[in-house]
Amino acid sequence: MSDRYDCIIVGAGPAGIAAAYKLAGAGLSVLVFERGGFPGSKNMFGGILYSTILNRLIPEFWKEAPVERHVVRRRYSFLSKDSEAAFDLKFDAFNNPPYNHSFTVLRARFDKWFAKKAEEAGAVVVTEAVVDDFITEGERVQGVKVRMEGGTVYGDVVICAEGANSLLSEKIGMKKRPDPANMVLGVKEIISLPKGVIEDRFSLEDGEGAALEFFGEALGGEIGSGFIYTNRETLSVGIGCPISVLKEKGMKPYELIESFKRHPSVKNFLRGGKIEEYSARMIPEGGYDSLPALTRDGLLLTGDCAGLVNPSLYKEGTNLAMASGVFAADTVIEAKEKGDFSKATLDGYVKRLQESFVLKDLKRYRDVPATLHSVPGFFKEYPEGIMELLQGHFTVTEESKEDVHREIKRLFRDKVSIWRLVRDIYKLRRLIT
Ligand SMILES: Cc1cc2nc3c(=O)[nH]c(=O)nc-3n(C[C@H](O)[C@H](O)[C@H](O)COP(=O)(O)OP(=O)(O)OC[C@H]3O[C@@H](n4cnc5c(N)ncnc54)[C@H](O)[C@@H]3O)c2cc1C
Repeated sequence: MSDRYDCIIVGAGPAGIAAAYKLAGAGLSVLVFERGGFPGSKNMFGGILYSTILNRLIPEFWKEAPVERHVVRRRYSFLSKDSEAAFDLKFDAFNNPPYNHSFTVLRARFDKWFAKKAEEAGAVVVTEAVVDDFITEGERVQGVKVRMEGGTVYGDVVICAEGANSLLSEKIGMKKRPDPANMVLGVKEIISLPKGVIEDRFSLEDGEGAALEFFGEALGGEIGSGFIYTNRETLSVGIGCPISVLKEKGMKPYELIESFKRHPSVKNFLRGGKIEEYSARMIPEGGYDSLPALTRDGLLLTGDCAGLVNPSLYKEGTNLAMASGVFAADTVIEAKEKGDFSKATLDGYVKRLQESFVLKDLKRYRDVPATLHSVPGFFKEYPEGIMELLQGHFTVTEESKEDVHREIKRLFRDKVSIWRLVRDIYKLRRLIT
């Protein structure tokens, strides 16, 4: 490790490694610092890697990357205390390359592989190296201080890809401590099951994967969701809930995941499985209106530390992180050619984000975070009301169908006013459209 590089990158997650791969490929000297024992060792996510950007960087990457399954089945469930209404989709077309750019992966394996690709391209990746601070001269960032011997390293520019727990970006004043209403705590277990059992239980062929999302009683009627994603021989099972809600309601994440796993519509998917791992991480879901400053002289923020997560039903973070890494790298390459690493030049990064799906999507779904908090009925009264309606409809009795329908309409109206329902449907349209 020398003490001067063209670019220093903090963090070997999808954003940092995408940037490193692109920069090294362009012939720049790149140094990545990662605090984990190896890239991915400290990382966790729900489980679906969205890969349009990765496929541009490494065409047909799935032929060599440690992907678990490609996702062909999507299932969205509304749970009440003991019942479920689900919307189940399966697309055979997603069995063909590029597999709808959706793969389940385990980060400990995937990040390690991706970082190796960056090393092969010429980047230097140093692990067990915690960056404690930026080195600045006036406004300009000139390098980093690392918790290791000889840990003062200089660079023309620094790309910060430190993830959701963005201590460095906050320390240098690029962002404020995030609002707990916009930070979702994700808790996940890896549960092992034999491959054949997973395929039978989730109606999958060899290699196919399923992504199941659960709302409503999945979290005791609070904002958030539960999920089950299928890996090759394990399931990724978890919940996500805003930190503000956990605090206000005094709820404990491990109790929430336990109660999710016990729900009658969830427990059979997990039957006989063995818990292999338990982990928790934050997701920045504040969206467009919570974006921090993205550049300053000598510094760019990418991925989760820049708040680049789509908070709608798509829950896309990995693709946005990689896109931001690539755009940051393109901007650094341009800055290197000009010999100018000022904010004015680095703002080319913001322009690239604005012209891409990254900021276009964040802008489109900018109301989602506030809407979720302002329509609490979405997670409790509506699932309960709908389940009551459906249960009434399908219950066999000797009453006339007209009487049954009149009674269930009355029951639903007692719970939810029609005007409120219409208003909430209008507000919630942005979750999926
Ligand atoms: C529970 C959960 C479920 C999710 N589900 C999905 C999903 O299904 N699909 C999806 O696309 N996205 C999902 N996401 C979001 C996705 O994980 C993130 O958007 C993505 O990982 C962001 O990549 P990143 O590189 O910006 O940050 P990270 O992946 O967090 O990587 C940051 C890296 O920086 C390192 N680091 C941090 N600080 C320092 C330091 N000071 N010095 C050195 N190294 C440091 C960390 O160890 C880490 O390796 C989920 C997130 C969570 C928490």
